[in-house]
Amino acid sequence: MSLKRLLIIAGSDSSGGAGIQADIKTASAFGVYAMTAITAITAQNTTGVTAVHAVPPDIVRQQIIACLKDIGADAIKTGMLANAAIVRVVAATLKEYAPGIPLVVDPVMVATSGAALLKPDAEKTVIKQLIPLATLVTPNIPETKRLTGITRTDRASLRKAAAILRDMGAKAALIKGGHSSKATIDDILVWEHGEDTFGFPRLKTRHTHGTGCTLASAIAANLAKGLPITVAVAKAREYVQAAIADAPGFGKGHGPLNHMV
Ligand code: PLP
Repeated sequence: MSLKRLLIIAGSDSSGGAGIQADIKTASAFGVYAMTAITAITAQNTTGVTAVHAVPPDIVRQQIIACLKDIGADAIKTGMLANAAIVRVVAATLKEYAPGIPLVVDPVMVATSGAALLKPDAEKTVIKQLIPLATLVTPNIPETKRLTGITRTDRASLRKAAAILRDMGAKAALIKGGHSSKATIDDILVWEHGEDTFGFPRLKTRHTHGTGCTLASAIAANLAKGLPITVAVAKAREYVQAAIADAPGFGKGHGPLNHMV
């Protein structure tokens, strides 16, 4: 079979810039077939999130099973999971139906606008049940602090945080540097055979809505194609950089990326 399959477990963004919509566009840009298990419906645009409706956990489970039992997947990505009950059901269902399939966990917590996309009491469930299943976990700096307890963001502290995430059971961790104030954004990848840094100049733009979702799904699409993790991350990071540079400037707030290549 030449066409690879990606299962995306995430929330819907009505404005099409982040979440499921960004994930599908990204998978398509990489020539990968996208399936979805929707965890939450959000009403949002470039200025913020106005409503969130979490999907009942059993419906999330049934979506995952429906995809995996029939079509199957070459990689899986998780994004917004909304609450602890959904995190629990996603972890249990993946354990049962997706052993051995590469899993990218984007531990989405708070939107750029400040809206909560994961109930704070669900963070420990992410740590205990989901991160141990991850091939790669992709926190930004605020998420890294919450998950690992680090308080500083110098390189040594971020490397320590990656080690903590790997001790929790993730095979690899990519700590994203976008929330730093540096002119160069360094994303640090630590995996079983070493460490790599992906450095890109910070682009002067407010149009970065959905960059985290896009990066994680680009990595997952490349893992679905069988690429090694360092190559998957490098290609995904280049794609996100180009997409930010091409952002169409839609909306009055943080606009979406341009996903065409
Ligand atoms: N909405 C959904 C459904 C998401 O999954 C995410 C991020 O993962 C966001 C919004 C946040 O997007 P941003 O912080 O880039 O605005």
